[in-house]
Amino acid sequence: MRVAVVGAGIGGLVAALDLREAGCDVVVLEGADQVGGKLRVDDVGDLRVDVGAESMLARRPEAVDLAARVGAELTHPATTSAAIWTRGALRPLPPTVMGVPADLDALEASGILAERPVPHAEPVPDDDVSVAAFLAPRVGREVVDRLVEPLLGGVYAGHADRLSLRAAAPQVLALGADPLAGAAATRATTRTLATPVFAGVVGGVGTLPQRVVEHGDLDVRLRSTVRAVRVDDGVWTVSAGPVSAIETYEVDAVVVATPAPATARLLAEVAPPAAFALAAVDYASMALVTFVLDGPIDVEGSGFLVPPVDGTVVKGSTISSQKWAWLGERAGDRTVVRASIGRAGDTAVLHRDDADVAALALADLTSAYGGLPPVLATHVQRWGGGLPQYDVGHLGRVATVEAAVALVDGLEVCGAVYHGVGIPAVVASARAAAARLLAR
Ligand SMILES: Cc1cc2nc3c(=O)[nH]c(=O)nc-3n(C[C@H](O)[C@H](O)[C@H](O)COP(=O)(O)OP(=O)(O)OC[C@H]3O[C@@H](n4cnc5c(N)ncnc54)[C@H](O)[C@@H]3O)c2cc1C
Repeated sequence: MRVAVVGAGIGGLVAALDLREAGCDVVVLEGADQVGGKLRVDDVGDLRVDVGAESMLARRPEAVDLAARVGAELTHPATTSAAIWTRGALRPLPPTVMGVPADLDALEASGILAERPVPHAEPVPDDDVSVAAFLAPRVGREVVDRLVEPLLGGVYAGHADRLSLRAAAPQVLALGADPLAGAAATRATTRTLATPVFAGVVGGVGTLPQRVVEHGDLDVRLRSTVRAVRVDDGVWTVSAGPVSAIETYEVDAVVVATPAPATARLLAEVAPPAAFALAAVDYASMALVTFVLDGPIDVEGSGFLVPPVDGTVVKGSTISSQKWAWLGERAGDRTVVRASIGRAGDTAVLHRDDADVAALALADLTSAYGGLPPVLATHVQRWGGGLPQYDVGHLGRVATVEAAVALVDGLEVCGAVYHGVGIPAVVASARAAAARLLAR
């Protein structure tokens, strides 16, 4: 079977790898001039670091299995203690389940909230609601504002008032009618697990895509933006490349592994209901600013998250050279720290130029960390349309897409917009798409 995979993010590459290993003749068409999508390493001064995703959930098997499959060296964070920058100080993040406190004494000691939350039970609704609509009556608005928002923001760059409980925070739904009691019980069972929660890759998670390409000896065509996908009598025609030199590929099947706006455009003719549902998905834009600093910083832990109510430019920060031992070794006496900026609907600062964005980020980091060594190198990576927003009703939209795609022989979709934005979920989505295609 000849297959064209559209998009060389980790989703498209993993689908291509599975199809190729099953004996298919695969071509991967990528619009950018490099593979990886949101997984990317770049040079900041003389250090090569992740400037996109940097960590993978290790309590699901898919990402760590992929790393092992392609020969990447896995590692785990050297420090997992994180902080919330709120109410004028860095405060230790107490144990939570996606921001729902699991230890009220630790929460009280942290000083993150003005008042200790009072557990409250209410029946779980059958229909989809926002994370905030579910949690605020049960745990209090302050927990939502100062804990759930920063943690959800760290994953989706979105807002608890819009994100779907069922699609974006199923672990919160699983806490049941009394989420504070549920979180405490969950912690009691998971704290004894020996497996680390997160994993990274020595050299950066952003090195994984190229490893996938090399492992599968994949035929990837860069600078090949796919402009149209058509099917006629079981033969698919994919048109790609610059408008002045469009190339067409005739194949038996197509896997579309692009973000929702591109997928919606490409499916408009072949699966209109899917295109319509995908066009309704909003995306958050953001920027990651990475600094190499000339010296150590006097702060322990891996960084901090910020509640949006605090009104800072920086939404979160990772002290990368403390979090990842491989980077700490390469950095020596220097510190690598990064800041994330921008959230769904909160992008004004992203309209400024790189120098301004970096200066604003540095001002916030200096204030949060209480002073910083001089900056040796700065890198601004913009992620326009970086993260899909799983707003209320998302699962219904995804069901519509999947039902419409299933009716079209030789068509599959995968990627971050369907069943989870994290790397393991995207890998799972890609492997499932490849398996469905092979089974048809
Ligand atoms: C800043 C940031 C930090 C993140 N951090 C983490 C993290 O630490 N851990 C984690 O698990 N997840 C993280 N995520 C989420 C995760 O990285 C992404 O959800 C995931 O990598 C998306 O993979 P994908 O293959 O679905 O899509 P993408 O990575 O978006 O890849 C899609 C590819 O399709 C290409 N494309 C688009 N249109 C066309 C077209 N018409 N023709 C051809 N090619 C096209 C794009 O250029 C791109 O290469 C982060 C996301 C962002 C934005």
